[in-house]
Amino acid sequence: GALLGQYPEAGDDIEAFVAATVAWHRENFGPMERELPNSRWALVTERKIPGGGTVGIRTDITDLKRALSNLAAANERARHAMEEVQLQNVALRERDRALHIQNVLFDAALNNMSQGLLMTDRNQRLIVHNKRFLDLFSIEPSAFAPGLPTKDIFARMRDAGGIQVAMVETIQLKQRGLADARQSGTFVVSGEGGQSISVSQRPIADGGWVATYEDVSEQRRAEEHIRFAAHHDALTKLPNRVLFRIRLDEMISNLAHRDTDLALLYLDLDRFKHVNDTLGHPIGDALLEAAGRRLLSCLRGADIVARLGGDEFAIAFESTDLPAAAEQLGQRIISTLSTPYTLEGHTVIVGVSIGIALAGDGHMNADTLLKNADMALYQAKAKGRGVCSLFEADMERQLLTRLAIEEDLRVALDRQEFELLYQPLWDLSSNRIAGFEALIRWNHPVRGLVSPAQFIQIAEETGLIRSIGGWVLNKACADAMKLPDNVKVAVNLSGAQFDSGDIVNTVAAALDASGLPANRLELEITETTLLKNNESTLALLFRLHALGLRIALDDFGTGYSSLSYLRTFPFDKIKIDQSFVREMATRADCAAIVSSIVGLANKLNITTTAEGIETLDQLDLIRETGCTEAQGYLFSVPRRLPEVLAYFVESEAPTVAV
Ligand code: C2E
Ligand code: CA
Ligand code: CA
Repeated sequence: GALLGQYPEAGDDIEAFVAATVAWHRENFGPMERELPNSRWALVTERKIPGGGTVGIRTDITDLKRALSNLAAANERARHAMEEVQLQNVALRERDRALHIQNVLFDAALNNMSQGLLMTDRNQRLIVHNKRFLDLFSIEPSAFAPGLPTKDIFARMRDAGGIQVAMVETIQLKQRGLADARQSGTFVVSGEGGQSISVSQRPIADGGWVATYEDVSEQRRAEEHIRFAAHHDALTKLPNRVLFRIRLDEMISNLAHRDTDLALLYLDLDRFKHVNDTLGHPIGDALLEAAGRRLLSCLRGADIVARLGGDEFAIAFESTDLPAAAEQLGQRIISTLSTPYTLEGHTVIVGVSIGIALAGDGHMNADTLLKNADMALYQAKAKGRGVCSLFEADMERQLLTRLAIEEDLRVALDRQEFELLYQPLWDLSSNRIAGFEALIRWNHPVRGLVSPAQFIQIAEETGLIRSIGGWVLNKACADAMKLPDNVKVAVNLSGAQFDSGDIVNTVAAALDASGLPANRLELEITETTLLKNNESTLALLFRLHALGLRIALDDFGTGYSSLSYLRTFPFDKIKIDQSFVREMATRADCAAIVSSIVGLANKLNITTTAEGIETLDQLDLIRETGCTEAQGYLFSVPRRLPEVLAYFVESEAPTVAV
């Protein structure tokens, strides 16, 4: 009370009162709080009394202290709350900032997307779009703002002209379909000129949709390129074997529903390897390209053509007129492709051989068709190239036979399976044997006696003719040494023997080894030999001639029968082909031709031999022409050497009744 009286300003402000009390105590007594038992507190004030005593006042301040601490706790809580509010404020500001950043990022992302983007709301109005979208469709930014109805969006896309109108219409149609069905979907719309737009659309929760648009033209072109490369030949740009097979299969399976048949032409360039080897690969490549172009020029739109590899091409086409139409096409291709090419200043000539196979209905499969055409091609090549040949059922057997013969031919020489027969050449003025033509025979262990017609060509194509021909020369020269001195021997040479250039050495060696004088040897060559490689063959012929032997032009009247050959080389003899002799009796013009050839030859001092004389009538006609020699079954078939030798022993001066 005294205290309160002394500090009226404290009023009922307990805090102020306590503070005043404490201050008062401190001032008068020096305050001292003391903890009492039972968690009570007292304020103890002591003062010394004069004379040595102490007066103490103890005030219980337990409640006071409790009140104070409650007050402090309340204060503390208030401060905490305050801090809390402040923190929240900071967080809110922070969130605001983040939102802003997010907005900026969203914008950046939206406008830097490689795809165009559109978002519409449930009322089919534009919410969001990006710059890429505008660019993609060449739309003016000013014409585009949120709120734009969907139909106007597409109208803007159409009007802007960034992509073809038809494409926009297709896009609109498809997007509306997806939107109506509330479905997600991706589709690509392509227009002319390879432009392609890929669109992805998905519905959004509020009822609108979001769609992205991407220009995939480049990608499509690249894919297209890869697809093309897998199915085409890089050089000629023609379909390759893979694509040809696919299309051929389609054509074959469609045949059942059509009234046309199908023809497959298998082409192989002749002498392409030679061009490649002599002029180099760049010219070889240029030749293939040019040949591919010419090939295309021979075809119609529906025909399919391919480069199967190397110098091989194939064509498949349909026609109601087979095989005639195929053979016509084949001939057209042969003449088109055989016309000389001018490539980097070189004039290049190649030919082409063609095999044709037909498929009449759906039963034939592509493999068989290709195999058959290939076999027919093989036949065409064997016929002497530059021709087309139609597959026949028998071809497979023929081919197998040929392959078997080829195999056996390789060992025939080692196994001594060859022999020579001799057919006399009859001198018509002296009625004596002027000489013998050596004709080869092959004693095959299984096939029996094989005629040269069946194996000489194979020997030529395989190159075996060089060793076989060498054997013939040696044997014929050696055999001739057993015959009378005035009897000549004639040996057939094949064109292939002139290929390597060592024919001169081979002949010289045969003469040397046997000791046969060169003037007793006659070599028979055909026009095809001269055709082969004119320059070098001619040079070799001159060198052979220089050895002192005689050279005869065989089978005259077949092939080109060009008298101009008589100017290019000084032949010693012309052998008139047996086909002429055979027809002389029935055709007056044949007789006239033979007489004029003989007449010309006589003037040029060239001996003539008529081949294939079988009857006395033929012999009479031949005699009339003034022909020098005759050969044929009428005089003798080709015979073995012992028989020939026996003939000379029996008749010292051989003459016959003819
Ligand atoms: P070639 O040179 O025209 O030989 C004449 C062919 O006519 C021989 O057939 C002969 O037997 C046959 N012949 C002879 N007189 C008559 C006859 O009165 N009537 C008939 N119809 N035919 C007759 P061969 O021996 O079958 O020879 C066929 C061809 O094979 C030869 O035709 C020749 O081109 C070739 N040849 C034969 N031997 C050789 C050879 O050693 N080397 C080469 N490269 N080819 C040869
Ligand atoms: Ca001959
Ligand atoms: Ca002949």
